[in-house]
Amino acid sequence: MSKTGESCSFCGRHASADIFLIASGVEPNVFICNYCVEQAYNIWMSEQENNKQRTTTELSQDLLLKKPTEIKAFLDQYVIGQEATKKVLSVAVYNHYKRLLQEKDQEEVEIQKSNIVMVGQTGTGKTLMARTIAQMLNVPLAIVDATVFTEAGYVGEDVESILSRLLQAADYNVEKAERGIVFIDEIDKISRKSDNPSITRDVSGEGVQHALLKLLEGSIVNVPPKGGRKHPDQKYIEVNTEHILFIAGGAFDGIERIIARRMNRQAVGYNSSKETKVDDKNLLQYITHKDLKDYGLIPEIIGRLPVLTYMDPLDKETLRMILTQPKNALVKQYIKLFAMDGITLSFEEDALNFIVEKALEYKLGARGLRSLCESILTDAMFNLPSTNEKTLVVTRSYAEDKLNKSGFTEHLLSA
Ligand code: ADP
Repeated sequence: MSKTGESCSFCGRHASADIFLIASGVEPNVFICNYCVEQAYNIWMSEQENNKQRTTTELSQDLLLKKPTEIKAFLDQYVIGQEATKKVLSVAVYNHYKRLLQEKDQEEVEIQKSNIVMVGQTGTGKTLMARTIAQMLNVPLAIVDATVFTEAGYVGEDVESILSRLLQAADYNVEKAERGIVFIDEIDKISRKSDNPSITRDVSGEGVQHALLKLLEGSIVNVPPKGGRKHPDQKYIEVNTEHILFIAGGAFDGIERIIARRMNRQAVGYNSSKETKVDDKNLLQYITHKDLKDYGLIPEIIGRLPVLTYMDPLDKETLRMILTQPKNALVKQYIKLFAMDGITLSFEEDALNFIVEKALEYKLGARGLRSLCESILTDAMFNLPSTNEKTLVVTRSYAEDKLNKSGFTEHLLSA
């Protein structure tokens, strides 16, 4: 590799019986000796270790500062209502990260993972809840839809690509990804259904549930960095799922009937029992893990989603509050958008009531509030920036008129 007389460009040592010089492949007369290589390796390793500790300490400090009541207070700023779920989630998240910190102390009692399953109609805030928690903890979040995954060998994505998304969200920092949150939406859609034959998809969903188990329980998984199907030539990244918090969500349509049957009553109708009064309008609040099993989730999956909680349906008052109260409420967002053009936007009370009524009428939930506002305000957002108009007051009749002209209703009816 080197001739006598040549020396290490770092320490100046000359080649000898125990000094071995490696030449640069780019620059002539540039060498590095075996001592410097060893030293560089040690410096690099200790730097890696420091970084690792720093990430954990930063996270620990962050997390230790946030007690369950504080986590809930943070959620309160963004999510309206859903008191029961906020409380359960705050505790679960707190315990999950406490477990993460505890393992470093090598305690004997092993705290198990507190993965969560949230049951509730679409548009009631399940994703928002997961998003808000990830934002508060400053950890990466991947939101995935359970329906796109199939058992290996079928058309669709491998479940490992869930972790590819998390890696992407963590800018490919594996350490960060390993402390992230995965929100799996529509978990109910992969429940076991025996009466739906298909040759192209694993419709039974059971295979996907089994594939998911591995991720949920905490294991080292080979992840294709770009997601999609695993490919023999692809390089994998190893991800340990032990500290990843999994939150599953689903509407579980019809599960009320299972709950009602279990509770020995009808899903609808008035019922005044002798001892406990059952709220027939919101049976989800009585949900148990057994109901999920009867719905078609396999017991192993249920066992790995030990924290079960439910979302309340959104009534008129809640929808009304969602429009105006959260930190980034829709109305606040539109006011800001208009203000950027120097236009003062305001809504009369009755206009807001009208938007809520329409969202309820068309069963659009909170998600519909946004499309309604868009339909009502598009004309103004298009025209006003090019005029001298500096105020816009949205009244009920203005909202009604714009909505009718926007074809919103026809669009919905034809959808
Ligand atoms: P889900 O995941 O239950 O289908 P999302 O969390 O995606 O519902 O909710 C859709 C949108 O509706 C959210 O982005 C948010 O703007 C609004 N939203 C729903 N529920 C609430 C709530 N409880 N508080 C505040 N906003 C809500």
